[in-house]
Amino acid sequence: MSLFYEPIPTALVAALRAGGPDANGQPPERGAIASGSGEPCRHCLQNTPAGQEYLILAHRPFPAPQPYAETGPIFLCAGECEAWGGQGMPPILTTSPDYLLKGYSHGHRIVYGSGRIVPKEGVERYAATLLADPRIAYVDVRSARNNCFQLRIRAARPVLRG
Ligand SMILES: [Zn+2]
Repeated sequence: MSLFYEPIPTALVAALRAGGPDANGQPPERGAIASGSGEPCRHCLQNTPAGQEYLILAHRPFPAPQPYAETGPIFLCAGECEAWGGQGMPPILTTSPDYLLKGYSHGHRIVYGSGRIVPKEGVERYAATLLADPRIAYVDVRSARNNCFQLRIRAARPVLRG
């Protein structure tokens, strides 16, 4: 199975960089400077380079509020960066020893029993296992320690949305 590692949409990132509202209706926090080793951007899917500014904001990676639509903190490069192309294991998934993976239904709800903390070497295999289940539309990867959303994994490249 070919996996697509989906970054946050570029149009949304551009709006946030311009001061647009985050999931809590607030402008992203500015002024934080990256160390280069601990501020993973959810657009380029790698750490913001050392010395570069990054944004801190609340993100809800679901189309609408509902009981399963978790909102939480993320980082983005404050300056321009290139969206991850989707293929291959992105750097953001190599910075922690393990990650929390959860399968979501086509209705954007947790598929119970799918949530598991897996070592980074096992992310690809477990995501593929979950995506082989027809009940599961996508797999969200979160920090195993802080629960922060990292990225979404799909079975194939999705149709690009506007
Ligand atoms: Zn970035």
